[in-house]
Amino acid sequence: MAGRFDIGASDVLLVVDVQNDFCTSGALAVPRGEEVVPVINSLARRFSHVVLTQDWHPRGHHSFASSHAGAQPFQSIALGYGPQVLWPDHCVQGTAGADFHPGLDVPHAALIVRKGHTREIDSYSAFYENDHATPTGLGSYLRERALRRVFVAGLAFDFCVRYSAEDARRLGFDAVVIEDACRAIDLDGSASVTHAALAALGVPCVRAEKV
Ligand SMILES: [Zn+2]
Repeated sequence: MAGRFDIGASDVLLVVDVQNDFCTSGALAVPRGEEVVPVINSLARRFSHVVLTQDWHPRGHHSFASSHAGAQPFQSIALGYGPQVLWPDHCVQGTAGADFHPGLDVPHAALIVRKGHTREIDSYSAFYENDHATPTGLGSYLRERALRRVFVAGLAFDFCVRYSAEDARRLGFDAVVIEDACRAIDLDGSASVTHAALAALGVPCVRAEKV
């Protein structure tokens, strides 16, 4: 098909947080989040290299509204590293909500990056915690494996997908977001802000049929 990306040995598919809690009836459900599953399963067959991320919080994590007296989910507060949206408790380590969606079928994924495991710091990006300073190790992994272009899919478009794509770009990787393999939370216009932010960094948003 004309205009398709030529997927090769230096390309990696980064599948962000396709977990039960981010799908319908989950604790922090992204609208129609589970619809990304068949798209990602099909996409992944085109990549030799696939990395999964898994949001993985201890109980009492500081991104949970329940950890702050009087706070409500989806409000923003100031933490030591900057503003932080407070969420319902979600993706608690070892719970069913933190498991990958049962339909996710990517057996050749070589690495699972767990993030958000530091109690005091949230982690949207697959590369850095939200202090933008503590690395997850993924950047070094991709360099050691000579992977240079990162295709990002998963949940949610306007949070963990966005920050992962932005950090990939800032670290010198090429980044592409596969938009119909993502779903957005769209909190206070965050989806349109994400489109603008990605465009400013030269990160294209494409449809899966182009990959
Ligand atoms: Zn989280």
